[in-house]
Amino acid sequence: MSDVKKMYINGEWVPSISGETRNSINPANGEVLAAVAEGAEADVDTAVIAAKEAFYEGPWGSTPAQERAALLFKLADLIDANGAELTELETRDNGKPLREAEYDVADAAACFRYYAGLCTKPMGQTYEVADPMQAMTVREPIGVAGLIVPWNYPLLMGTWKIAPALAAGNSIVFKPSEITPLSAVRLFELIEEAGFPKGSANLVMGAGAAVGARMAEHMDIDKIAFTGGTATGRKIMTAATGNLKKISLELGGKSPCVVFEDADMDAAVDWALFAIFANQGQVCSAGSRLLLQESIHDEFVEKLVGRTKKIKVAPGDAEGVEMAAMVSEAHMEKVLRYIEIGKAEGATLQCGGVRLMEDGLDKGFFIAPTIFTDTTPEMRIVKEEIFGPVLAVQKFTDDADAVKLANDSIYGLAGGVFSENGTRALNFIKKLRAGITWINCYHPTYSEAPWGGYKQSGIGRDLGTYGFDEYTEVKQININLDPGPIGWFEG
Ligand code: NDP
Repeated sequence: MSDVKKMYINGEWVPSISGETRNSINPANGEVLAAVAEGAEADVDTAVIAAKEAFYEGPWGSTPAQERAALLFKLADLIDANGAELTELETRDNGKPLREAEYDVADAAACFRYYAGLCTKPMGQTYEVADPMQAMTVREPIGVAGLIVPWNYPLLMGTWKIAPALAAGNSIVFKPSEITPLSAVRLFELIEEAGFPKGSANLVMGAGAAVGARMAEHMDIDKIAFTGGTATGRKIMTAATGNLKKISLELGGKSPCVVFEDADMDAAVDWALFAIFANQGQVCSAGSRLLLQESIHDEFVEKLVGRTKKIKVAPGDAEGVEMAAMVSEAHMEKVLRYIEIGKAEGATLQCGGVRLMEDGLDKGFFIAPTIFTDTTPEMRIVKEEIFGPVLAVQKFTDDADAVKLANDSIYGLAGGVFSENGTRALNFIKKLRAGITWINCYHPTYSEAPWGGYKQSGIGRDLGTYGFDEYTEVKQININLDPGPIGWFEG
């Protein structure tokens, strides 16, 4: 085991104030990968002081957009140059297959480049108003941004927030999930190497209930951007009321993947597998409810189950691996409990439903890809976010029934539809109460396009120009082109 991984505060690598550490575990075999500094409230306070100083007094607050862009482009190049190492690190810390980690790292570099380019593009507006005035707007950074991300895409979820926050000129305090901090530590080494001024980017690690909660309530943090569970999002929203922080929340989902009888069945089966089992189902937008038109239900399920049974589950770095370890033992246990709930509720278990212990998997946290049919809308496995490789199949009769079932959720993050009839597909999508939708595909995600949900799936958007706007304030500037007294008062 190497040295303790430290936090990065005010341009220095520092241990936690308490000296505490926590071990980061490889979920494929239970081995300790590294000891990591375990911060708490006081470490957040130190980081916020540094971030505030960098923004108001240090060079960062007055760094022009062109220079911020140059730093972000350099960081993207460094991510590419260290791509193989980051990929391996992500797989070891999170468990995911190498081929998925490789995509994440490439996407992270692309996202930094996107925001590097965006921050020098036109932003404000000008207005024709009554003579002799000229009105206009500019966008300015909010100040100190607190960024809190989960463990399912540690590097990429971090990037989705770090890139726009820094591009817009904020200083940041970043908290990765306590169970997957290693790629964040490496990313901050690259941030240092790229030459960001001290205090502009700070990394604090530690438990959500301590570090995350302190960030959410901190009076000198002006903005919180969070991705994670809906219950945590609710706590953050409450804690943020003290100084009325700007908040953006990217929360959970129970997203429908809907297949009409006129769809290309083999293609839809293929996408439905990807929709639920990519990243072991630990995806906020996972197609965790599969809605099948009743006329094709049985044939579709047969094909789907046949292919699911062939999915190769193995450690993330194994040859030919298709699905890998769950992120942690605790999370695996939670998913297994949901499987028991599904059985007890009376759903039919078509395949999977067990922890995998054969072929050397017993030291890690592996679950067989699982499909339930004969579900009802009231079942917990249909209503609640399981965040694992567990699919609940639902049956619908016609287009109106599909819309009704698809929207029967507290969530509204994402959804996909499969049909050869473009009008039918688009009509369905227009009635779907969700922020991210796909027609004849599922999951494609781009730095250029906004990401976020309706209903209890969140507030605000990541990515695209919408994601950039989340880290800016709009300032109105009014210029008098005929300067002189107004003469409103006569005396
Ligand atoms: P959390 O929402 O608890 O964690 C997300 C982030 O928030 C982590 O960095 C966590 O820290 C931090 N956090 C935890 N508690 C607080 C708090 N009170 N104030 C501020 N920050 C906090 O997700 P979990 O990892 O526990 O997963 C729970 C469930 O959430 C999952 O099973 C899944 O259903 C859902 N989820 C959804 C995600 C999505 O992308 N929509 C992503 C991850 C989870 P730490 O990890 O250090 O405790």
